[in-house]
Amino acid sequence: MFQTENELLQNLIVLSPKLARKKFRENIFESWNWKCMYCDRDLTPSTATIDHIKPKFKGGKSTRSNMGACCTCCNSNKASKLVFDFYNTSNPNYTEERATKIKEWLEQDTSFYLNSDKSSATPYLCHDVSIGWISN
Ligand SMILES: [Zn+2]
Repeated sequence: MFQTENELLQNLIVLSPKLARKKFRENIFESWNWKCMYCDRDLTPSTATIDHIKPKFKGGKSTRSNMGACCTCCNSNKASKLVFDFYNTSNPNYTEERATKIKEWLEQDTSFYLNSDKSSATPYLCHDVSIGWISN
């Protein structure tokens, strides 16, 4: 991937905490195709919110697997309910397909790792924490 330490350092991207947070959130919105995870409404950077799937109030963490793209309406309706107390067959926007996607999202691998795959030495944000370099 890199032949020398210098080469590695030259390509290291340093993000400010503010920008890193923004990129982290944007990556979550992109993963949900800029649609609300509960009602499928289209989101924009100014309307998209992050829902803590397991509410912070109930011990949910700010990790990728616990954060989903959500419209303000669903977010305020869900409030501090547990996800499937809110999103079940009695929810008018409920679909089996979206419920499955939420379950899969919750089960994603959230372990910390440093990508060392030579073919993907590009900046990316994946899983809870990841670090990337530009390769050229
Ligand atoms: Zn919604």
